[in-house]
Amino acid sequence: MIGVLKSLATTMKHALNGDTITVEYPEEAPEVSPRFRGIHKWSQERCIWCRQCETVCPNDTIQIVMDEDRNGEQYNLHVGQCIYCRLCEEVCPVEAILLTENFEFTGDTKHDLAYNKEQLKNVPWYKDMDPVNARESDREAWVDEGEGEVDYQ
Ligand code: SF4
Ligand code: SF4
Repeated sequence: MIGVLKSLATTMKHALNGDTITVEYPEEAPEVSPRFRGIHKWSQERCIWCRQCETVCPNDTIQIVMDEDRNGEQYNLHVGQCIYCRLCEEVCPVEAILLTENFEFTGDTKHDLAYNKEQLKNVPWYKDMDPVNARESDREAWVDEGEGEVDYQ
């Protein structure tokens, strides 16, 4: 009983201070950290079909199909398998992939979240994300300033 009263007192103290950090989602969208890794956005206009993202992806989220002349034919994205490791963004030489801040999508199974590049253009929560205006790469955010020179060797 005393424990319950202590908990209530703590809750009331923070509520009255205006220190609450919860939001009434989905009416109010929570702020996400600059380092947050949400769904990645792919740009066909930028892509040079080097397949490095497909190679580096640890779980086949990205599956690229080439024609017999080695031209890019299909870019399949299995969103439900993504673990948001960001390796695809890091490896892409032309910034054709940017992880965005978007986390608002659902599916009953991971198979509901598998799209080819034509389907991606019509997915409501995907198609309006502008790859150029999606969150800029913030690689510096991953490296603390530290004290003095940083030795990466
Ligand atoms: S973030 Fe990681 S798991 Fe997701 S598509 Fe990119 S490489 Fe694959
Ligand atoms: S790494 Fe970038 S340029 Fe290469 S295939 Fe993937 S998205 Fe396209």
